[in-house]
Amino acid sequence: MPTTPTAEIPPSGFSAPFIQTVVVQPTPFCNINCRYCYLPDRDSKATMALSTIEALFSKVFASGWTGDELTVIWHAGEPLVLPVSYYETAFRAIEALRPPSLALRHAFQTNGMLITPEWCALFRDWDVGVGVSIDGPQALHDANRVTRSGRGTFGRTVAGMRLLRRENVPFHVISVLSAESLRSPEEMLDFYLAEGVEDICFNVEESEGDHVSELFAASNFDDRFRAFLGRFWTLARQSGRVHTIREIDDMLSRIFRPESGDANDDADRANVQAQPFGMLNVACDGSASSFSPELLGLKNAAYNDFIIGNVCTDSLESMLKGAAMTAMARDIATGVEICRRTCEYFSVCGGGTPVNKLSENGRFDSGETSFCRLTEKIPTDLVLAAFDRLEAAIESDSTPAMDPGRLAEAR
Ligand code: SF4
Repeated sequence: MPTTPTAEIPPSGFSAPFIQTVVVQPTPFCNINCRYCYLPDRDSKATMALSTIEALFSKVFASGWTGDELTVIWHAGEPLVLPVSYYETAFRAIEALRPPSLALRHAFQTNGMLITPEWCALFRDWDVGVGVSIDGPQALHDANRVTRSGRGTFGRTVAGMRLLRRENVPFHVISVLSAESLRSPEEMLDFYLAEGVEDICFNVEESEGDHVSELFAASNFDDRFRAFLGRFWTLARQSGRVHTIREIDDMLSRIFRPESGDANDDADRANVQAQPFGMLNVACDGSASSFSPELLGLKNAAYNDFIIGNVCTDSLESMLKGAAMTAMARDIATGVEICRRTCEYFSVCGGGTPVNKLSENGRFDSGETSFCRLTEKIPTDLVLAAFDRLEAAIESDSTPAMDPGRLAEAR
């Protein structure tokens, strides 16, 4: 499941598209077959050509649509099924094209099974951000993350994580929460602590593409997720050994974000998945998409299967003006306006994720989803409840200022 980086707000007065993240699919192939996977082409061994990588980054760098920083996420399939040398060549080619004023950071999301000392050297040499997909202790992980023959992948993933630690490669984990793991915050935390994992991201099992989430089908899953995340946050704070929980820490930075005047406007512009070209997502044949990266590879006649052009043959300007981009941008913007009018969480959310609106509500121009209740509303409620407790505590002592950094103490 793709990971979405923290969004930046485009500079004031910046009205052109603002590319913050490029998601590159070097191959759709994956060496395993997770039960919740929505990627339709995970058996294909096609590989992105070097010429496609060069065409992509030549156009991005020449566009004038980037800020000072750009994140490049290598997301497949499983990116490590390609050899280390593939990325050494690709990174050098991108580096040769990169304008000196642009800071670019590569990131990988991997199932960790294929990590070797050579991969660790690449990660270190290029300061690559590494995310490992692991769903918690063995029983929870192996319930869904299996090989094509149905065997669990826990042992090899843990071995990969341990090698990263031995080789001093920083990494975070992304764990997909199932109905079962929501019952197990203590076991989840015990596992992370035992493996020395300090930075944790949770993804909820979503309905996307052909995959229908069992979690969303379960009764009172909102309450169960709220209880899980609240309990996990409390336990993690008490342990003193967890550095970040993305769902909480991202929310803190968004709730306490410095405003440029209009909090709703800031949130809207910071919602990278709702902005044309905020995320530029490119398949191995050069087909380009935008908005939610999960759209790339899905089918939809109304939006040309979400393909806005091909980086080998089309300019970014022509993609921006094309029929598919125009239709998606219009309908996604309408969905954002529905959220702005109807949702009291808009100033922290910015209008949600288009792929979940389409998957759950059947259309981009729509509002609330089960996904947004879990990822936006419940974390906001938890942070604000902790803030209220902190405020009450401060009223009775001499602490001079409210400090978001103290929120964890209020858990
Ligand atoms: S929380 Fe949901 S309903 Fe509210 S703005 Fe976000 S996507 Fe829209």
